[in-house]
Amino acid sequence: MGVIFREHLGGTIQYCCDTCNTYLTHRGYLVSTRFTSASGSAWLFSKVVNIYYDNAVSRNMVTGRHIVRNIYCKSCSTKIGWFYEMAFASGQEYKEGCKILEVALIREQTDDMPETPFGKHILSSV
Ligand SMILES: [Zn+2]
Repeated sequence: MGVIFREHLGGTIQYCCDTCNTYLTHRGYLVSTRFTSASGSAWLFSKVVNIYYDNAVSRNMVTGRHIVRNIYCKSCSTKIGWFYEMAFASGQEYKEGCKILEVALIREQTDDMPETPFGKHILSSV
């Protein structure tokens, strides 16, 4: 078995694979929450790590024809969404290079950074 290298992009509000808890992305890369998938709500992110891609397929959607690839969690191989490789309709180009994550398949996590005594000291001394 090979070693799986995982990336981490940081961020305060993070999104992980709901099945195995592998880090995927954070709120700073969230482009839009107005998407739907077979499992319900789906969110568009400009960057997602620790995934692998399926073959490219042409798919006709409400917003026109797209070339997409299903994306899978690198650690547990759960299908977690899809990647927009190309959009043909005008006005849809912003999706190119972005990834959809199905909300039902990801988990939101907050990186709890405790307030430091130094920070509190500054606030109380003003
Ligand atoms: Zn996983």
